[in-house]
Amino acid sequence: MVPAIYFDGRSTHTTRVDAWRDENVLRWRCANDAQEWSAPWTAIEPSARVTGVPFTLHLEDGAHLQIDHDALPADWFPRHHLIERMVDWLERRWMAALAGIVVVVVSLLGLFEYGLPWAADRIATHMPASVENAIGKQSLAALEGRLLMPTTLPSDRQSHLQSVFRHFVDGVQGAPNVRLGFYQAKATGANAFALPGGTIVFTDELAEAVPDDAAFIAVIAHELGHQAGHHMLRQVLRSSGVFIVAGLLMGDVTSMGGVAAGIPMFLVDSHYSRGFEENADGFAFRALASQGIDPEAFVHAMQALERAHPELKGQELRYAASHPLTAERIARAHAASLQFQAAKATVDARPGR
Ligand SMILES: [Zn+2]
Repeated sequence: MVPAIYFDGRSTHTTRVDAWRDENVLRWRCANDAQEWSAPWTAIEPSARVTGVPFTLHLEDGAHLQIDHDALPADWFPRHHLIERMVDWLERRWMAALAGIVVVVVSLLGLFEYGLPWAADRIATHMPASVENAIGKQSLAALEGRLLMPTTLPSDRQSHLQSVFRHFVDGVQGAPNVRLGFYQAKATGANAFALPGGTIVFTDELAEAVPDDAAFIAVIAHELGHQAGHHMLRQVLRSSGVFIVAGLLMGDVTSMGGVAAGIPMFLVDSHYSRGFEENADGFAFRALASQGIDPEAFVHAMQALERAHPELKGQELRYAASHPLTAERIARAHAASLQFQAAKATVDARPGR
């Protein structure tokens, strides 16, 4: 017997009853006065079973019986609806529901943590050269007249550095397509950076600070590394947010403007990730050694930057704002230099030289 509440369908009166199944008949009896009712099983229309909601058996004439969900015998109205069963299953198993929430949250975090950088990298490395050039041109135009002013380097100094630059870049295997531009940058001082499309901006302040051509070339080699890896585009895309990345994925060309606008911001108050710096340094050490230049020149370049930025002394040394410099990087340059000298000594010691 199952406790139930009987609504006769004619009044608001309710009766506490006990119900039971008698073959193909449902019977229920008042708990107080033993008054009894019955209805053929086939005339009963059961409600959907939902955990926590009382189960209702609709009878003829608008009458119904209400039975507590958990009190209903499982074999009374075996369910046919798959969805009904699934909903009930989920509701009974709150752990499964909780796991569902966890899956959604972890997926979203994963999308932002890994999906976005992944998409940004894919876009940056598969971008047509014409589009990358357009972004580079737009960002350079935004910098000119603001952060970057016309160079004041003597023209013979410029043409000397240009020819040293061209000679070096032409000799480096796998070097990206680049050109060199000198600019006065009083606001930021000694700095160099590679814009998308391959313009290497070299400030007058840095050109005056480098002690020799080898140190100048060491900076160029590092920037070649950044450009070969599309680092600036990747870094700016990674921080430009989900809408710009999504727009680019959908082929929305207006999103390019957002990327170009992000570059001056990046140059002023952001910097490359540690991974990108290490990557560019590694490229630089290999490129220098391949051209017979001791990677120790990189250390000289770093020291020149330090002298040019006395305001940063005592802090973590920085290659202007965009290139964090650590003792670790200098140590790696020293190690690359030792390796270079050892290889050179082996070659020099060969008979007949
Ligand atoms: Zn760098």
